[in-house]
Amino acid sequence: MALTKKGEFWYGTTSGDTQAELRSYSIENRHEATRFAASKCDCGCRTFALQTDEEAGVAIRTCTDCGQEHLMGDSAEHVEGAAPETHECLCENEVFELMSGVSVHQGTHDVRWYYIACHCVECKLVAVFADWPCEAGDAAAFLAKV
Ligand SMILES: [Zn+2]
Ligand SMILES: [Zn+2]
Repeated sequence: MALTKKGEFWYGTTSGDTQAELRSYSIENRHEATRFAASKCDCGCRTFALQTDEEAGVAIRTCTDCGQEHLMGDSAEHVEGAAPETHECLCENEVFELMSGVSVHQGTHDVRWYYIACHCVECKLVAVFADWPCEAGDAAAFLAKV
């Protein structure tokens, strides 16, 4: 596993690369992500279209295989009135593997900040596409729903 840099962007090959990029982004954001989970559809597929509304705190992934839409983490609680927008890679592809990460309040297991990193299935770009402050309670329960 290795991240390579082209211009100001990073490209990777494995979910470990995606996790590494998410972590370094979170450190710059001063809320270091310490727990991670990769998204997987109920059908077993791991590639998705992603829509988010960072202001509302909403992320929706749509499986590229079976088409199931899923509200990630605690998004269901914030979706009313939200206006999620579809993410597109620099290469214009809209299909990604998704890695979620959270930071927690110090000394607790409670979510403090939520990050979503994408790995483009076409050009292999790795980047955090969305993040927001998030008070969603238990991190394990939250990450079980990404
Ligand atoms: Zn599916
Ligand atoms: Zn791409």
